[in-house]
Amino acid sequence: MPTTHPLIDIHTHLYPPTYLSLLSSRTEIPYLFHPSPTPTDASSTLPTTSPHPRLIILPTDAPPTLPPAQHGRPIDPSYSSVAQKLAFMSTHNIRTSVLSLANPWLDFLPAAEAALWATKVNDEFEAICADSGGRLFAFGCLPVSASADEVCNEIRRLKTLPHIRGVILGTSGLGRGLDDAALDPMWAALERSRTLVFLHPHYGLPNEVFGPRVQEYGHVLPLSLGFPMETTVAFTRMLLSGVFDRFSDLEVLLAHAGGAVPFLAGRVQSCVLHERHFRDAVGNMVRKRRDVWDVLRKNVWLDAVTYGEVATRAAVEAVGRERVLFGTDHPFFPPLDDGAEEWLSVRTNVEAVEGASAGNEETIGMVLGGNAVRLLGLVETVK
Ligand code: URA
Ligand code: ZN
Repeated sequence: MPTTHPLIDIHTHLYPPTYLSLLSSRTEIPYLFHPSPTPTDASSTLPTTSPHPRLIILPTDAPPTLPPAQHGRPIDPSYSSVAQKLAFMSTHNIRTSVLSLANPWLDFLPAAEAALWATKVNDEFEAICADSGGRLFAFGCLPVSASADEVCNEIRRLKTLPHIRGVILGTSGLGRGLDDAALDPMWAALERSRTLVFLHPHYGLPNEVFGPRVQEYGHVLPLSLGFPMETTVAFTRMLLSGVFDRFSDLEVLLAHAGGAVPFLAGRVQSCVLHERHFRDAVGNMVRKRRDVWDVLRKNVWLDAVTYGEVATRAAVEAVGRERVLFGTDHPFFPPLDDGAEEWLSVRTNVEAVEGASAGNEETIGMVLGGNAVRLLGLVETVK
């Protein structure tokens, strides 16, 4: 039976026109490749078809063995159309969505250009949401490569935009990951302004990890395993470097239920407690470290984008039922069967929440929408 709870989708992406024009102007990864139109009938003057542009965001998207028209993935209008986003929401009973720019955000920009692009893209998201009759909110993006001052200024400015509810952040930081001490001014500004950080993967794992047959399996290994492990490693590095000790009020929302974090948190904690490297000559901890479970229950939210009941139950167990939030990852994972109105990926995630909650309607309502309303203050639409 379909759920009667209105859904709030906190994991749903958009590439707004400004951003696509930036990618179209580039020839280095990441870029948007526009294949030339092909005549529908080469022997006549019949109309031509324009294939969708192709998005190339990782080196593995452009293997020299394939022609450019087959590189990356086709970007149809569902990646950029607000009308299609709203139609998708209506089809799936999604009352409110919190949009975010999809990967690779602005991470690739030279330092001198990043702040201006962040302003442009964030203002565009704000305008889209303001025009949505209360159905859309957004996470902003940060000019990570810019100076610390510019990053902090944008964090402060985002607080003045009425529909922005946090920031989406990749795992690379300044190229050295999120355990880089140079990021402390950013964490401090995010903590001070109580800005939620939506931590999202982009790079996955090096392709070699997946063996010589990886191409045969399309995107399955990088997306199902590489993406979640990237998030798992990034979050664990933040923990180990003491980000949550120095910024104990920092709030992070981990994509894809934190990857393997709920499953591996106990192992991480145990490895920390048994690590001689963290002890001084007489066996005392070199510095005080918060318990991993304490961080999970005070600083971490997990989305419920797991496609499986067991993983959603683990997410709820790890952080508490009030800290797990429904999401779709739209427009990724569309149905491959032509004409299917309902997306299998969405239904699977709703069913995972229902199954993980063992029929507890209060828990189901919290995860499918109530938690997001409370955490993100989505008051415009919820009476
Ligand atoms: N989901 C995302 O958010 N990004 C991708 O590149 C693929 C799936
Ligand atoms: Zn996503």
